[in-house]
Parts: sequence; structure tokens; C-alpha cells
Amino acid sequence: MDKTRLEQFRLLLHGKLEELLSGAEKAVIGMSGSKEENFPDPTDRASHETDRNFLLRVKDRERRLITKINEAIKRIDDNSYGICELCGEDISEKRLMARPVTTCCIACKTEEEEQEKSRGTV
Ligand SMILES: [Zn+2]
Repeated sequence: MDKTRLEQFRLLLHGKLEELLSGAEKAVIGMSGSKEENFPDPTDRASHETDRNFLLRVKDRERRLITKINEAIKRIDDNSYGICELCGEDISEKRLMARPVTTCCIACKTEEEEQEKSRGTV
């Protein structure tokens, strides 16, 4: 992939990273702020706890995505971005636009999913 395209993907990844980090911050502020609130109704309290668990799960997923984005930026730095780590072929730019953190091409991904599916049915 040429350098201009790589830099475009770098910007895209940085944008996503910032979006995620500011979202995570908001979630943390929301959580610590709600600690001060009083929930006299036990039903409210229960649903509040569920919200908290939901937030923690979301945060976990975001953390994993942040790691993936950082890895993708590293691959841009060492010029291995956009190359399938399984077969070594170029990943199509269309696929990279839709999923910029991906590390394998559509053919390998499809194969992987087929294998997962067949494992699941046994
Ligand atoms: Zn591949």
C-alpha cells in the first residue's frame, strides 16, 4: 500500500482511538458520579447495578478494541499494515475501510468463520 493511503488509515485509526478514549472517560465519570446518588427503591437499585455491570462489560470490550487499534498503528509504522497475517496477501482497502483493525483478508476470515461454525455444530 502506498504511503498516502497508509497515512489516511493512520488518521482514521487515531480518530477512532480518540473517540473511544473520550467515551471511556465519560463512562468513568458517569460511574463515579452515580455513587453519590441515593436509591431508596430497591428495584431502582437493582437496575442501577445492572447498568454498572453493563458499563464494565462495555469498558472491557472498548479496552480490547483500543489494544487492537494501537497494534494496527504499530503495523502502519513497520509497513506490515494491510497485509494478511495468515496468507501474506494484501487485504482489500474496502475491507480495511470497514474494519481498519483487521489482520487477515476476507478469504482467510471466511475460512476461519467456517471452521468455527463447523466446530460449533459438533
Ligand atoms: Zn489471507
